[in-house]
Amino acid sequence: MASAKQRELDLTEFPSGTVTEYTTLVCLACIFDIFTKQLKLAPRTAFSEIKRHTPTIAELTSRGAMRPYFDSEEKHPHCPYCGSAKRWLARFDTYCIEGGKTTDAARRALLRKLPKAEDQFVVSEKKSDSGAVFFEWLDTLRRSLDLNDETWLIDASRMYLERREPKTNWDEVFDELRAVRRSSRLSEGWERDGARLFLAPSLYSEALLIQYLVSRSHAHGGLTLEGRLTLMELVRRLRYSGYLEQLSITEHDPGEVFEKVVNHLAATHEWSSISTGGGRVSGAAKKVQVRTGSGSDRVEVAKRSSRKSSKSRKSKSAPPEPEQITTEPVKLHYLIDRRDFLEKVKSVYASYAG
Ligand SMILES: [Zn+2]
Repeated sequence: MASAKQRELDLTEFPSGTVTEYTTLVCLACIFDIFTKQLKLAPRTAFSEIKRHTPTIAELTSRGAMRPYFDSEEKHPHCPYCGSAKRWLARFDTYCIEGGKTTDAARRALLRKLPKAEDQFVVSEKKSDSGAVFFEWLDTLRRSLDLNDETWLIDASRMYLERREPKTNWDEVFDELRAVRRSSRLSEGWERDGARLFLAPSLYSEALLIQYLVSRSHAHGGLTLEGRLTLMELVRRLRYSGYLEQLSITEHDPGEVFEKVVNHLAATHEWSSISTGGGRVSGAAKKVQVRTGSGSDRVEVAKRSSRKSSKSRKSKSAPPEPEQITTEPVKLHYLIDRRDFLEKVKSVYASYAG
């Protein structure tokens, strides 16, 4: 049997942040139990039914799994429903790949290389939008970072930059890095000086905003490279750095400004295509600008109302999301690795039948 290491997929061709991995365990003892005791199938029939089984995307990616699925971080997990040990437990690995210019070629190349027999891999597609992708990305950040360890601020800056500039080798840039600062010299881009990374004001502003969004449920206000900030203090910094002017945001109410800047980030999932330099107005902000000129005193940003109620996540800590946001459609490609499941079903059946 191939080790876990050998069977890991090579995702190095995908820009960082465009692939989200989910792992869900399934208890075969529980499944067999359901099929043989509740549905009264003979073991052989149950076996062939179970072998064809692929959980739904919701079952594979939900953070609150239900029997026979469960999540576990343990090295030697046991089924929380029946107590079964490792050999009864199979793993589904699910890779959610954001469709788009930066990933399409890599995705096709990856799919071509995968084994085809026995549905070892199953691909499933879902329509989504840049807003949902953005909030999901924030959610993943929040989970992967330890907010009690202040180095998370540097990690979050890095994850933001990886998404903003996917072609840069950030490993190199962040190697031995000690601090991230706002540059008073650069008008765009970034530069490393010794152990410090200097970001142009617009990049620095967005990094602060991401940090605020990730942490603001964790404590009052949000934690950022500039310390703990209230919304008003955050908005003041965004204004001071020229970021609001760059996005043509003229509102003064912090809540309205906040909604605008969040909408700006949620308007596209390919941030690398938005300019941040030289005071140029991005496409998304331009749309808002046109509407302002139409005479209404409150700017209407929404074209497609995209309520995020479809998310069944139990992330109570997630910040409230704007009611209406301008988004672009994004196709999500789910790649489900069934190899471990198929192997375990076979070995379990062998012992069951024998
Ligand atoms: Zn079980």
